Amino acid sequence: MGQLTTVLVLGATLGFTLACDAGFAAQEAGADAELGTATVAGTPVRITFLDVGQADAVLIQAPAGQTALLDAGLPSPTAALRERGVTAIDLLVASHAHADHIGGMTAVLEAFPIRFYMDNGIPHTSIIYRRLLEALQPRPEIKYLNADSRTITLGDATLEVLSAAPFPPSSAIAELAVETATDSLPDAPADTAPWIAADDQNNRSIGLILRLGSFAAFFSGDSEVEQLTWLLRKDAVPDITLLKAPHHGSRNGVTLEYLEVARPEVVVISVGDGNVYGHPHPEALELYGAFADVYRTATAPSRSSDIQTAATRSLPPNPPTAREGERPRKDLL
Ligand SMILES: [Zn+2]
Repeated sequence: MGQLTTVLVLGATLGFTLACDAGFAAQEAGADAELGTATVAGTPVRITFLDVGQADAVLIQAPAGQTALLDAGLPSPTAALRERGVTAIDLLVASHAHADHIGGMTAVLEAFPIRFYMDNGIPHTSIIYRRLLEALQPRPEIKYLNADSRTITLGDATLEVLSAAPFPPSSAIAELAVETATDSLPDAPADTAPWIAADDQNNRSIGLILRLGSFAAFFSGDSEVEQLTWLLRKDAVPDITLLKAPHHGSRNGVTLEYLEVARPEVVVISVGDGNVYGHPHPEALELYGAFADVYRTATAPSRSSDIQTAATRSLPPNPPTAREGERPRKDLL
């Protein structure tokens, strides 16, 4: 493992480059379909926050050329992906089914070969969601990965999928009625935060942690206080380096309790200038600013060089340590 370095890329797009010894391997869940295990010494893994306005699209490029795209909001990031040399996507993730996260995904599906697709499994009634399903339907070559707790390896790096919150009692009733014809309710887990509704897209965003040596980046779509609290209760929030601000820097996407555990050094807010939601909210900026350097995809290009200087940093090499306790199943992508 070499030294890790993060570098912010110039322009309207933010990016962090991690220089390390890392390869990328891929495998379907439950099957040994290992593909690119080559280790490319000194070649960086690059995390780029594409500027898609009031939306999300995060590109992860591994050293051997494999690619993961976390969300594809509108406008479609297709052109931006091509500009960065993307010709195929190994893992496409829809954190949740809202338009600002999947609105550009149909175009991405049409523009690139895709190997694996993962979503949160929560359907939506929107036309955009239906069109995405219609675009996926005739593509049997795309392997579906559900968002169960699993670890996807990218050479020396890993992408950990956090387990989702259990469905609330109403869902449990329905399941029991079908399966056992009894109306008795299971007790809520003692350590569970407030129940998260089964169709709460924001709070059922897929949670992902990208690890590389001592570096950890946290992505959780548009999760709000409920999901962040639940993840804390589950002890699923590690000390991290980089945080994609949940829910575009909304005040409902951050808590002091979360930040005190996560302790990010860098926070990136994917947000559009002058958006109708007022994102990022001043309260959120104040909280993030107390812990980290904060960047936005909507930052004016004239400030880019300042951002690059501020965000360039080196992290000491630190091999990943084995985690005690539960070992989620491991998938090699
Ligand atoms: Zn969103």
